[in-house]
Amino acid sequence: MPIAHEHRWLYPIDWRELSDLVRFRRAKGRCEHCHRPHGRDVLHLGDGVWWDEDALTWRNGRGRRLRRLPSPDELQLVQPGLAGIGPPAQLRVTRVVLASAHLNHDPSDNRPRNLAALCQRCHMIHDAAEHLRRRWFNACRVRAIGDLFA
Ligand SMILES: [Zn+2]
Repeated sequence: MPIAHEHRWLYPIDWRELSDLVRFRRAKGRCEHCHRPHGRDVLHLGDGVWWDEDALTWRNGRGRRLRRLPSPDELQLVQPGLAGIGPPAQLRVTRVVLASAHLNHDPSDNRPRNLAALCQRCHMIHDAAEHLRRRWFNACRVRAIGDLFA
């Protein structure tokens, strides 16, 4: 996830090296929440469930194996409209990009335990509550400033 221009000064000068250390040495190039591999195109169902090509298994959004789902090849073979069989699940492909996330949302707190290698999906989910809080704060601030000049 790109660093916002106004937050750039909060990051240490060696942020790139620190981020590489977290993403590739500690996390070994996999999302630390869902285990998706960096730089690879992964098949997924759009709800967090994705196909782990290395382990030949589906995983959920927390990286746990889902053993009961048919493989992508088996899903493609299912023809819609057959008696008792629904249409095939919608398979999508997304290229995974790992970024280092600040778990407490404080970009000046670069302790290793506050950093996590997250794919873009997990990063957005992790940041969603914080983004909502900031939008609410900014809306209140704009309203308060408006009240000063009303
Ligand atoms: Zn992830």
